This record gives sequence, C-alpha cells and structure tokens, in this order.
Amino acid sequence: MLEHKCPSCGRQLGYEGLCWLCRAEKDRREAQAWTAEQIAEKQRNITQNITALDDWKSEETKDLWSLLSYHGAVTPEMQRAALAAGVFDVEQLYWRAPADVGAGLARVLMEADSHDEAGCLMCCLAMQGGDEALSALLELERNPRAWRKKLYADPSIYAECGGWTFDKEGRRRELVFDRCIPLVKGTPGENEPARLMRPREDFCPHCGCRMVDAVILDGRDERLRFLGVDGVITAACCPNCVGFEDGGAFTRFNPRGGGEPLPNDLTLDDYENYLGDEGLAELVNNRFVLAERHVPPFYGAYYEGVSTIGGFANWVQDWQYLECPECGKKMKYAAQIEWDMLFDEYGGEGTLYLEICPDCHIAGLLHQQT
Ligand SMILES: [Zn+2]
Ligand SMILES: [Zn+2]
Ligand SMILES: [Zn+2]
Repeated sequence: MLEHKCPSCGRQLGYEGLCWLCRAEKDRREAQAWTAEQIAEKQRNITQNITALDDWKSEETKDLWSLLSYHGAVTPEMQRAALAAGVFDVEQLYWRAPADVGAGLARVLMEADSHDEAGCLMCCLAMQGGDEALSALLELERNPRAWRKKLYADPSIYAECGGWTFDKEGRRRELVFDRCIPLVKGTPGENEPARLMRPREDFCPHCGCRMVDAVILDGRDERLRFLGVDGVITAACCPNCVGFEDGGAFTRFNPRGGGEPLPNDLTLDDYENYLGDEGLAELVNNRFVLAERHVPPFYGAYYEGVSTIGGFANWVQDWQYLECPECGKKMKYAAQIEWDMLFDEYGGEGTLYLEICPDCHIAGLLHQQT
C-alpha cells in the first residue's frame, strides 16, 4: 500500500521519509557545497588512506565519487598513491592521469598473470587514455597473453571503458564527449534545446503504442555545441518496445528537425503494450529541461537519480557502444535518461541511452536494466 507521501516532491510511497530521488538530490546538494578547503582535506585524506578505496563502502570511496562526480577534482598525488599501493578497483580514479602513471599501469599490466587482475588494469589504463595506454592495449590485442582466453572481450573493447577504442592499425577513435550537462526539472520553453518523449504521429507496428521522439537535442544551442552536430538530433522509438530491442533502436535524423525510425530486429508478432495510455501520458508530460551549466564528466557515471547529456554513462550492465548501421563504426555515447525520473506514478526501471554517429546523422537508443 502506498499510504505515505514524499515530503519534498509528493510522490506516493510505501514508507515514511524522502523518496529515493529526493534523498539522492539532498546528498548531492551537500557534496556540491563543499568548500575549497573541504575538497583539499578530502583529497589529502584519500591520498593517505588510498587502500580504503579497495572497500566500495568506505567513506573514502564515497568521497572519491563525490570529488569525481561533482568537483572533477582528482589529483595526480591520489593517482600516484593508488598506483604505488596497487589499488585498481575504481578505474575512473585514473582518468587522464599523468604519463608516468600511465607507464606504471602498463608495466603492471604486462606482468599480470591472472585474468581478473588484467581486466581491472586494462580498465584503469583505458581511463588513463594516454599514448602509453594505447600502445600497451594494442600490443596485447596483437599478442594475446594466456589470460585472454578467460576474458569475454579484446583489449580494444576494454578501451571503450575509458570512452575510446582503436582499430588494427592502432588509430584511436573517441566514443564519449568530455563535456557533460544534466537534464533538470523545469518548464520547457518554446525553443527548449533538449526535449524528451515528444509524441509522434505514427504507432508501433508491434504493440500499437504511440511512437515518441524520445530524445531531441538541438546541437546549435551553445551548451550542446560539444556534440558536434550543427542541427537537431532526433531519436525516435516505441517507448514500450525499446526495452526489447537488444540491438538498439535507430533513427535517421534530419538536422533541420525530425527523423525517421529505421527498421528494427523485432518480429512482427504482437508485443503486449505494458505502458498503456496512462503510462504514455505521464511520459510525454515530463518537465525536463537542459540545465544552465556544465558539470564534471563523471557527474552521471555513478550516482543514480540524474539524467545527463555527454560525459560518462552509468551503465546498468556492461558498457555497450552500438555500431552505426550506415558506416559500421562504433557510435558515440551522447545521453542517458533514467526511466524512473520520467514518471511520478507509474514507475520505470532501467536507463535509456542515446548514441549518435554525427557523420551519418544516425541516432541509436539502447535500454538496459538489472
Ligand atoms: Zn521525492
Ligand atoms: Zn511497441
Ligand atoms: Zn556512421
């Protein structure tokens, strides 16, 4: 029975107190308010107690994620201390670490003899992302070690963990944008540059639900220029069936506005419309708008209760980069929307990810849930 109400947002709850979204928001506000002295103190404390990061529940790990997510404030001292102590569980700690740290990680990786250790180290190197990282991963792709057989993927797939990959010749390709901006609750304006779940005229041939332009981003807005599209990105889907489309739901978008969904892998058999009219109405009436300011690239990579454009994703399962159906290259990760944030009553599970090929004007939507 939902007999309680969240005192902050009014959402109906089965328990007393803040709903999980408002609780996450409160924690976020507190961490965002840290002063320069508090940040310096947290950095010093983590550097001195670096092995505490091996425990994902420790205060230090929590503080590290607040530094990464809200302040973009990890120091080379923290990275060097982690390397020296062999702390490799939180790969994001090594993002853009200096070259000496990259070279150090590569050395440890080359001597690794277990697949677990090698997997962790490849993620750390992927996050470091420098020339040392590329040459080490390329070397292991060309000359696999014994542990490779026990891993699911090649080093070029591990590189994707850090938001890039490479081809056989060792040419790099970036898969994430290092700028990030959240979507926040507000009142969408006439020319709102970021809109979610705009209803379309067409209906899904599989379940009969109305189709939606799930994500519409105007790349001409100053805040979204980093996406590299001089026009409007439109990604359409059936909001009910997108969860069944394991290979992604693709749209060919017209930079002047609008887009056509490409044929999908679903068979024409009837799918049940679980969303229904009420669920759809809640979705299309969401009040999300683009935030005023950019945030650090890991803002949406760990804490739940945020939807973001750019930066790093919080993958529910493993990271997944779709192949562009036009040019065959891996698409770039562009946005994530938590379904639960779009609903007040209905509730939603999992996250919808947007990926784009700016060259071919293709958008792909991908759903993941536990
Ligand atoms: Zn609430
Ligand atoms: Zn459908
Ligand atoms: Zn393409």
